[in-house]
Amino acid sequence: VEEISGEQPSIEQQLQLHAVVLPYPAKGHSIPLMHFAKRLHSMGVVVTFVNTFSHLSKEHFRTLDGLDKSTMRVVPLGVSPPEGEGTTSLPYVEHVNELVEDALLLFEDLFSRKEDAPPACIVSDMFLGWTQVVANKFKIPRYVLFASPAGALATMLHMPELIKQGRLPIDPSKKEELIYDIPGVPPTRLADLPSPMQDANAYEYPFYARNCVEMHEATGVLINTFYELEPSYIDTLRQTVYGNVNGKEGHLLSILPVGPMLPKAYFTAGPEISANVEERDLCLQWLDTQPESSVLYVSFGSVAVLSIPQIQELAMGLEMSGQRFLLVLRAPLNPENLPLFPEGFEERTKGRGFVHVGWAPQLLVLSHRAVGGYLTHCGWNSTLEGICRGLPMLTWPIQAEQAMNARFLVDDVKAAIEVCTVTDGFISRERISTAIKRLLADPEGVIVKNNMQKLRDLALAAVGEGGSVQRNLENFLQELRSWKSS
Ligand code: UDP
Repeated sequence: VEEISGEQPSIEQQLQLHAVVLPYPAKGHSIPLMHFAKRLHSMGVVVTFVNTFSHLSKEHFRTLDGLDKSTMRVVPLGVSPPEGEGTTSLPYVEHVNELVEDALLLFEDLFSRKEDAPPACIVSDMFLGWTQVVANKFKIPRYVLFASPAGALATMLHMPELIKQGRLPIDPSKKEELIYDIPGVPPTRLADLPSPMQDANAYEYPFYARNCVEMHEATGVLINTFYELEPSYIDTLRQTVYGNVNGKEGHLLSILPVGPMLPKAYFTAGPEISANVEERDLCLQWLDTQPESSVLYVSFGSVAVLSIPQIQELAMGLEMSGQRFLLVLRAPLNPENLPLFPEGFEERTKGRGFVHVGWAPQLLVLSHRAVGGYLTHCGWNSTLEGICRGLPMLTWPIQAEQAMNARFLVDDVKAAIEVCTVTDGFISRERISTAIKRLLADPEGVIVKNNMQKLRDLALAAVGEGGSVQRNLENFLQELRSWKSS
């Protein structure tokens, strides 16, 4: 610090921790990072949240209203936002050099500010490996914020090794084969590994591979999970994953499960967290008319888009099941303006079904007393959100690490019933309807629900006073203090 600012920081500044947090511009990544930043702030840490892309400001930064802007602030990074948003465009691939340059300037500025404690660490998304360059330059630790579970982290940390052994990218004819030797991970079908790892021709492959290598250079990984959910994966990671400094194996990576990264009210409020009048949108108004624990919420997250024929078949499956449902979808590309739903579907399911094409207030939906089950694409945030509400699930994974998450829910913790796997292709109405009835109308569903409610209890204990999440957060701050004092 002295070297850079030319001045000794005051005692107060020396004691204060200052974290610089950098998100990746996909909702499934930036939402948990935002909640994590707020959690750090509530523990007395000064947080500088770097707004790398303008779309974040609309949906997330309003949640900063009411917080002390001198200790929780948002600063822009000088890269022009790309068109659109989401992981599909992976904008960082083209912008890495530009981003590093801009970030170096930003950090010089942060280190020279007299009114603030100098940054004690970088907390950056799992896909922002380039921030390691900045951390190295300023000699501060970088912690990776890992938005997926510990099982997926284990596979990512082993990706460089699997590439070296010639086992990745995978041979398409071997997709059904099992991989046995990722420490801590049960035998896994190659087809169920995170999708960007599998195909060298995919745009994401080199991006993913590069980030997997850079993750080894970090000081630690903050995982969006809680210890009691994945104890064996976390224990194995803690014992086996070494960091890599200048090409040499170094320290054991610090592995800190500090999730679920969700607003505090989601854990503390009763069955339904309140929504103000303008947030009480049509989905919630419709749920208000439904009996308790009767509705299946169906959603595929913020990225996945089903084809029109698959949407039509899903609608028929929902109708055949005879169960109540709230179906939320992202609009598919539809240049010919085809009907999304089979003729007469909305009429025939009126009163017991509701369809919304667009963004739903998912936390409020999952907290609604009328929701009794969740058909999910198994995105990790959605999975955690469902677990914290004790909602039994139906699994329909689509991409990324969702296939692993689905296996975890169905096989490991037995808190979900499978609709399909990632390799099943087109899913028939019969299959959809059967899975829904198994969950909502069979004794099997009751067992799954009980298992899920046990997980919810574990989650609430983990995030509660004195729970493992609080202890891990304190350990994290302790690591930063030791680093500062050394
Ligand atoms: N989400 C939401 N409304 C929607 C769709 C998604 O609020 O209509 C939120 C959801 O609550 C979760 C995130 O978007 O926090 C999706 O992240 P996830 O990891 O589940 O899946 P992804 O969208 O990255 O595939």
